[in-house]
Amino acid sequence: MSLSGRTSTDPDRQGASGPDAGASSPGWVPDRPMDAILDVLRRGERFLVCSHSRPDGDAVGSMLAMGMLLEQMGKRADLVTADRIPGIYRTLPGADQIRTAMRVHGPYDAVILLECDGLERTRLLGLEAFYVVNIDHHLTGRNFGCLNWIDREAASVGELVHRLIKAAGAKVTAEIAACIYVTILTDTGGFMYGGTRASTFALAEELTRGGADPVRIAQEVYFSTATAKLLLLGAALGNLKREGRLAWLWIAHSDMVRTCATEEDCEGIVNYAVSIAGVEAAVFLRELPEGTIRLSIRSKGRVDVAEIAAKLGGGGHENAAGVTLEGPLPRAIEQILVELRAAVALLQVPSE
Ligand code: 5GP
Ligand code: MN
Repeated sequence: MSLSGRTSTDPDRQGASGPDAGASSPGWVPDRPMDAILDVLRRGERFLVCSHSRPDGDAVGSMLAMGMLLEQMGKRADLVTADRIPGIYRTLPGADQIRTAMRVHGPYDAVILLECDGLERTRLLGLEAFYVVNIDHHLTGRNFGCLNWIDREAASVGELVHRLIKAAGAKVTAEIAACIYVTILTDTGGFMYGGTRASTFALAEELTRGGADPVRIAQEVYFSTATAKLLLLGAALGNLKREGRLAWLWIAHSDMVRTCATEEDCEGIVNYAVSIAGVEAAVFLRELPEGTIRLSIRSKGRVDVAEIAAKLGGGGHENAAGVTLEGPLPRAIEQILVELRAAVALLQVPSE
């Protein structure tokens, strides 16, 4: 079959809900998204599975689980991201099969895009040529794919992939369980963020019974820190500022060079700022080599940082969002502080 080409009117591209469902044009939101997606998977032979640049636990775990589902279905799947998989996820089963690339091409029947609120989030070129299945859970998620399944209630995209695997009648192997467990562990910030529900723990229990080892996974995710990361953290904490219910910290590109840190060593630094008592929202700013500034914004739950990030051109979740701004650093700091000050000013009861 051929699902490739976003504007094709090939009747083969119609999904499970029938020919009037609009499967051939971007923006199709089926009534029964899992059925529609499984229909695409059953009818195709070769698939490309992608996620966002700087892949996190949800991106990596959900890609791997999706790859394993396709394998069980007897399909061929290539797993591709623009950036390397962070070291803490490289011990996940099958992680060595994720390739990095700048451009994608090939005889794919469809691209399964996980955890992206737009094609540009992948930083991969060439995706526009394909039939894109968009599976996401971001608040800022959009129906940009040919077939879209966005469930903002899901703790992780991995949770959606898990549902898909069960709906397909495929086996949730111990390897799949481990991958899905990582997605919920990391996307809930270790079962701490707002999206953590009783059902999150029920899923964690199911996955643990299915062979995921929570202790081993926690060791790999939270207790495998590179020394360079702590040196970088020291530099960032040296720049920590506090103003009422806000806190921020930053690192210049020269700090990255001096500490021999890599991009993945920046992961989690913002959490130290938002962990301060009385702080409702925090931001970590990092100067990139070319001078633009990458922001990680976090909230304890009362400030919607996804809304703030989206206003500045980024996106994310209520508690965790990001955006890239123009430099220099002081300008980017002022730009985000204007938004954050306005947001905390709206909070009724001071938290200290
Ligand atoms: P982080 O701060 O860890 O880079 O990102 C936190 C969350 O915000 C993640 O869920 C990520 O997908 C989202 N996010 C980060 N940067 C961007 C961005 O530039 N655009 C959009 N749309 N989402 C982002
Ligand atoms: Mn996610």
